[in-house]
Amino acid sequence: MQYVSTRGAAPVLGFADVVLEGLAEDGGLYVPQSWPTLNKDRPRAYAELAASVMQPFVEPDFSADTLLSLCQQAYSTFGQPQVVPLVEIEPNHYLLELFHGPTLAFKDVALQLLGLFFDNILSSRSERITIVAATSGDTGSAAIDGVSKCKNVDMVILYPNGRVSDVQRRQMTTVQSPNVHAIAIDGTFDDCQDLVKAMFNDTAFRNTHRLAAVNSINWSRVMAQIVYYVSASDHFTTPIDVTVPTGNFGNVLSGWIAKQMGTPLRHLVVASNSNDILTRFFENQTMTVSGVTPSLSPSMDIQVSSNFERLLFEMNDRDGSATAQQLQRFRESGTFAVEPNQYAQWIAPNFRAGRCDDAQTLDTIRDIYATSGTLIDPHTAVGVHVARQHMKPDIPMVTLATAHPAKFPDAVEQATGIRPGLPEHLVDLFERPEHTQLLPLDLGTVQKFVNSVAH
Ligand SMILES: *Cc1c(COP(=O)(O)O)cnc(C)c1O
Repeated sequence: MQYVSTRGAAPVLGFADVVLEGLAEDGGLYVPQSWPTLNKDRPRAYAELAASVMQPFVEPDFSADTLLSLCQQAYSTFGQPQVVPLVEIEPNHYLLELFHGPTLAFKDVALQLLGLFFDNILSSRSERITIVAATSGDTGSAAIDGVSKCKNVDMVILYPNGRVSDVQRRQMTTVQSPNVHAIAIDGTFDDCQDLVKAMFNDTAFRNTHRLAAVNSINWSRVMAQIVYYVSASDHFTTPIDVTVPTGNFGNVLSGWIAKQMGTPLRHLVVASNSNDILTRFFENQTMTVSGVTPSLSPSMDIQVSSNFERLLFEMNDRDGSATAQQLQRFRESGTFAVEPNQYAQWIAPNFRAGRCDDAQTLDTIRDIYATSGTLIDPHTAVGVHVARQHMKPDIPMVTLATAHPAKFPDAVEQATGIRPGLPEHLVDLFERPEHTQLLPLDLGTVQKFVNSVAH
């Protein structure tokens, strides 16, 4: 499989190079040259299914045997034998629980595997990379857990001081690996992201340290997430609808790819909180930037959804320069619209959308607890609220449960009066010693720190 950039001006690469590269040289995102078709005979067990779904994307860099053993290793870290169990919460409405990984958010599904891909590729090439990433909480903890065992990786994660939850911070700062550094920045998440972008844009710095990315622009993350859409659909004999609590559009894009590969998915329902740029786009075909308001579902508090670029490239019939021009206009004016024929061909048959504010989020957590006895986290609640607006008789609805309720205990307690407890492997999280430093919001200081820890 070869990969092309969505902006059409970067070298065509194979899978292993795409994993290390992250962002393409022209600023675009890598996508496979074509979408493979799913095997008709699919294994049920999750690791086996994962290897079968992903094999065409990783050839020839990973053999079937190697891929299967990496998948078995990655998913053995999950607390449930089914890895992503499906649970009915009301008639014909199911949760796909994606939060049984080590850090309790769906990002573990991809990042446990990405760490193994890095290690495997880098040790066979005798190379080393440095990961720098910004996090609003979930990406950092999942990346640290997934990558901390890698021998060939140094990692610096920047988080906004005082703006991640206690559970999220401790998941990052209590990891003992000497190659992992969680750094508090005196600023917001956007400030942290700007520092990371500036380090990537400093070509000399980027090349010296071989900077690599673990955010959802990394193709392997999108790829690993395709599997659970196939797994969910394989529980049913008829097509299903899936609702996805959405931020950067990475997760729901994986669902769209699963559909391209032949998974019987009818609609993908994009669920936003009050930061609803995507829902507004699906309603009026125009993408317009506005400010970000903090919500009870912080991992979905986004201004622009970076992975939308991969869908836009398809909507432009895979014309990279048209895509690059459209994005350029978007950056300059803060807005762009798609043509009616693009909407009719790509959006209308595949996507629906809806929004859920904080009051509705709390109501939904309370209601689901009252009617089913299940505690759900605020991100999942956004999904459940929007899913209920889109349910059709005879079409099973699957809502993706993206975080464990114990990861966001304050909102759950506010809604239900019950404070959800951490699972066994994290019960002593609040007794573990923390290792972190506070750095000022200053590029030179942060680069000096990266210099001092990168090998
Ligand atoms: C990251 C995250 C999301 C958003 O996922 P995207 O792939 O960015 O759309 C939703 N819920 C939780 C709990 C997350 O951690």
